[in-house]
Amino acid sequence: MKSIKPVFEKINNELESIQKGIQVIAVTKQVGIERTKEAIDAGVRHLGENRPEGLSAKRDAISADVSWHFIGTLQTRKVKDVINQIDYLHSLDRMSLAKEIQKRANRPIDCFVQVNVSQEESKSGLSPSETAEFIKSLESFDKIRVVGLMTMAPNTSDENVIRQVFKGLKTLQLEVASQNWRHAPCLECSMGMSNDYLIAAQEGATFVRIGTALVGTESEA
Ligand SMILES: *Cc1c(COP(=O)(O)O)cnc(C)c1O
Repeated sequence: MKSIKPVFEKINNELESIQKGIQVIAVTKQVGIERTKEAIDAGVRHLGENRPEGLSAKRDAISADVSWHFIGTLQTRKVKDVINQIDYLHSLDRMSLAKEIQKRANRPIDCFVQVNVSQEESKSGLSPSETAEFIKSLESFDKIRVVGLMTMAPNTSDENVIRQVFKGLKTLQLEVASQNWRHAPCLECSMGMSNDYLIAAQEGATFVRIGTALVGTESEA
């Protein structure tokens, strides 16, 4: 496998030439603990996992001071296993999930509301038109802080389609931020993965989530 450090440096340089301050989340869901430790040694400070089991395994083995991001669909019944183990949730997409977080979290959790900008049936997330109202309705949930919005681009090689989706998320994020809701500063945009992180950066991402292109994949993980 390729050494992570030069790849991490290259990605950070590319991002910095577009916009300063973009944070890279290394998505380690397809690699094991040793590779995850290599990422931390290379300077990675944000780790992303999409399954409760993967998250616990890595949390148990890694004591470094890093931020833990849960980036996948979170089943309501799994909230209790996950919510107090993470720093950020990227997939808040329904009221039932918000209620369970409110019940189980022992401190306010920084959440991204997931938006299905491309409106593909296969994708989770709120439709853009219902997003602001959903966020407003979280006002009384003192365990939820809406720090931003998250989306996944459609699986297409058409850069224009991808770019429009990212533009759409950015527009919505700025709209919500302009409301100045205390519970929802909404200053962050979580968008861009291995194949489209540069487009996401150009369109205003503040967090990109990179797995394959940064840490690769391992069969045993
Ligand atoms: C797996 C995953 C990523 C990373 O995907 P790569 O294409 O490997 O970079 C990012 N975001 C989410 C939500 C994912 O599930």
